[in-house]
Parts: sequence; structure tokens; C-alpha cells
Amino acid sequence: MEKDTDINKVIRQHLEMDNFFTGGFTLKSKTMTITPQKQKQDGISMAEITKELEKIADEVRQCKKCDLGSMRNNVVPGEGKADARIVFVGEGPGADEDAQGRPFVGRAGKLLDKIITAMKIKRSEVFICNILKCRPPGNRDPKAEEVISCMPYLQRQIELINPDIIVTLGAPATKALLNTNKPIGQLRGQFQEYYAGISTTAIKLMPTYHPAYLLRNYSAENRGKVWDDMKKVLSELGLPIPNRGEK
Ligand code: SF4
Ligand code: URA
Repeated sequence: MEKDTDINKVIRQHLEMDNFFTGGFTLKSKTMTITPQKQKQDGISMAEITKELEKIADEVRQCKKCDLGSMRNNVVPGEGKADARIVFVGEGPGADEDAQGRPFVGRAGKLLDKIITAMKIKRSEVFICNILKCRPPGNRDPKAEEVISCMPYLQRQIELINPDIIVTLGAPATKALLNTNKPIGQLRGQFQEYYAGISTTAIKLMPTYHPAYLLRNYSAENRGKVWDDMKKVLSELGLPIPNRGEK
């Protein structure tokens, strides 16, 4: 009996979560196109960036630099627009991602999709990837040595894409990119700085909660915090801030 109540609660929570991120406005209005406003400093063309990103993906496919390389079904190098203005960085592939070779396609991914839709942008216009390109068994936290082995791929991806903003999803991605041990609860909501490669110009980095954390810790407060963080991202990009349409 108690179990039924729990299941109902979970279903209700997820319906409310749907409504929170997509309710009331996304169906009515068109999705924005976020045209890049930046110029690639070194004049590298979109086609060249795409080619270089594909080279990285090929290297990742061959990679056995850490133990995860022999456990994976598929690598998950990341996907999206070569000159995206926003790069979302998660932790590492889960079972669904490992099965499909694509980032954020499972339950957490569906929620990320809703967040992106609520921002009125298209998934195809951003770049989505992870700090680890292979799945840690049982979705355990990444080990330090795995992150160290894998980070160069992410660093090169970010350097090539040269986004206006990086959004780190959850503590492992935030800690890895900012090289900090501060808790995510303290870091989220405030722009941080990330220096890609040898660049002396910082890329703004917004840490926020991981969608899987939101699914586990469902509360209006936590969802509101993520939405606040995304509003800051939109505002920084000069994009309109949609009404959340909460009923
Ligand atoms: Fe290579 Fe990264 Fe996979 Fe480890 S997790 S094998 S470093 S691609
Ligand atoms: N969680 C992550 O951190 N990354 C994914 O790609 C999927 C789930």
C-alpha cells in the first residue's frame, strides 16, 4: 500500500516537473534560434571545427587510457553544434548513453531536454558532452585517475567550440573544470571562469545541479534554482527570458 503511494508520488512529481519546465508556453511559441554572435578569433571555419571534433571522437573511440575503456559498449564523445554558444557538460555516460553512444538520452537526458526546451532553444544548437567518455560501471562516481585521463578530450572540444558559456551539470563536472573542491551548492548560480587551452580570455561557466540530482531530490526549490541559473545564462547571451509558464 505504502509502495503504491510512493509510486503515485513519483509519477505526480514527474508530471509536475514536466509542467514546470515545459508547461504553458513551449507549445505556443516558436523556439528561438541562437545565432552565434562571436567570431572565431583564428578564423577557423565551422567545417574545420566539425572535422576536428570528429577527429577527437575517433580518438575517443580507440581510447584505452583508463580501465573504463575495456568495459564500455560504446564511447560517448558528445554531440551538437560545432560553434555552439552553450556547452553543457555532464559527468559520464549512464546505461542508456553507453548503449546508444549518445550523451543524455536516458531519464536525466529527458529532463535536460526539457530544461533546454524551456529556455526556448534547440538541443541541436548546443553542444552536450561529459567529462568521462566511457561509462563507469554501475554509474559510480568517476575516479580521479579516470577524470585526469579523459579531461584532455573535453578540454580540446571546448577549445575548438569556444562557446560563450559552459554549463556544468553537477559536482563532478564542476569540480573537474574549475579544479575546485567547493560544494556545488556554493558554486551554482554564479558565473565562474574557465580558461580553455592557452587562451587568456575566460569562458563563463555556470555550475548548476545535475538533472539526475533534480530527479532524486525533487522540490520546487531545487527546480527553481536550476531555472534561475538558466535565466542567468540566457541573460548573459542576450537572449529573451521566457516565462516559465508555471500554473
Ligand atoms: Fe579513454 Fe576517457 Fe574512455 Fe578512459 S573514459 S578509456 S580516458 S575515453
Ligand atoms: N548523466 C550524465 O552525466 N551524462 C550523461 O550523458 C547521461 C547522464
